[in-house]
Amino acid sequence: MHLLRTTALSAAMAASLLLVSTSAVAQPAEPLAANTETAEPAASGKAKNVIVFLADAGGVSVLNGASLMGYGEPLKLHVQQWPHLGLSETSPVDDFVSDSANGMSSIMTGVKTHNGVISQGPDGVRGKIDGTPTKTLLEYAEERGLRTGVITTQSIADATPAATYAHSNDRGKQGEIFTQVFAPRFGDGVDVMYGAGRSKIGAKLAEMGTGFDALAKANDRPVYARLADAPADNERPIVVSDKMDVHAATLRALDILETSESGYLLVVEWDAHTSDPKKGLQNVVDFDHLMAEVAQRVDLDNTLLLFTADHSFGFQVDGGTRGEPLMAGYDAWKAAGDDSDIVRLDNVLVNTSHTAEEVPALAIGAGAEKVRGYFPNTHLFEIMMDAFGWEADKTATD
Ligand SMILES: [Zn+2]
Repeated sequence: MHLLRTTALSAAMAASLLLVSTSAVAQPAEPLAANTETAEPAASGKAKNVIVFLADAGGVSVLNGASLMGYGEPLKLHVQQWPHLGLSETSPVDDFVSDSANGMSSIMTGVKTHNGVISQGPDGVRGKIDGTPTKTLLEYAEERGLRTGVITTQSIADATPAATYAHSNDRGKQGEIFTQVFAPRFGDGVDVMYGAGRSKIGAKLAEMGTGFDALAKANDRPVYARLADAPADNERPIVVSDKMDVHAATLRALDILETSESGYLLVVEWDAHTSDPKKGLQNVVDFDHLMAEVAQRVDLDNTLLLFTADHSFGFQVDGGTRGEPLMAGYDAWKAAGDDSDIVRLDNVLVNTSHTAEEVPALAIGAGAEKVRGYFPNTHLFEIMMDAFGWEADKTATD
């Protein structure tokens, strides 16, 4: 591992364009002399904390659409001002188009796998044969004594959050996945979990002859049904509700995680599927508000903020006029209850499918400058490990 290039990141925020140009010399293979311009004492560029913001199905065109719908202009999202941008390639090992399971597993473990498989190597077969567990960034963090959190608008045992803390040959096994919360391979497992999916996970647990109450009792760790039910002095809260307010949940999680002397890893997922285009874009606008708030709150000198998506989606803006609503025709489409695979509004066309093209990776803070160019999504794992200053175990799997 090379020494992290170090940068005065608070200054970088004010001069982001300059940083983009100077960061072009930051790769380890290139001459070190060129780094002196921005070099500072060695340890200051290291991340104590990393926060991953994952917009599920939030591709480049979805960010563009969110800015147009939310602000009537392109490039108005807060996250679109972040200085470091790369394009992250999301495919699984055997197909062109990714699902959330492979997409997030690749980001969290640095190992691509098959669609449907949760943080196991490509030696697994979905639903049939377990692959070798691939160690997740969250497991590295737990092993090193950091505090960890996972938050989602979706089921806390759905593919994207699951890939941070669980290993399964099938994303559908949400009961089995959830029980892994209580059987961590490293440290004491995820410290803060706020997600939805209570009914779905509850039904799966019942099939296994258990349930939230039984698990809570056996592990002496309550599983609250609402964010408001978790007492403020519970430093390892699990909340599985039917609907999760991710904005409130993230701020609550930071209250807890920020007390960690050794740092923290927080992963926040917000659904951005645009099968319902207005809903999907509004989710991104709301997520962006949260990211702006968090970027204000944390110390970017020791915290890496990374925004990306697990895969892209067939959303396109193909018309529209400045000063007029992007979503013209939406109400009529919604009222018609059309559930076909193609959504055709006046200015928006959606092929309601995951798509193969690269997704944005945007970063600011400690270690952010390595996010640049085209790369496979597994590179994001390496960037985060590097930001923390960690070496991956000798084998990618264990
Ligand atoms: Zn997804």
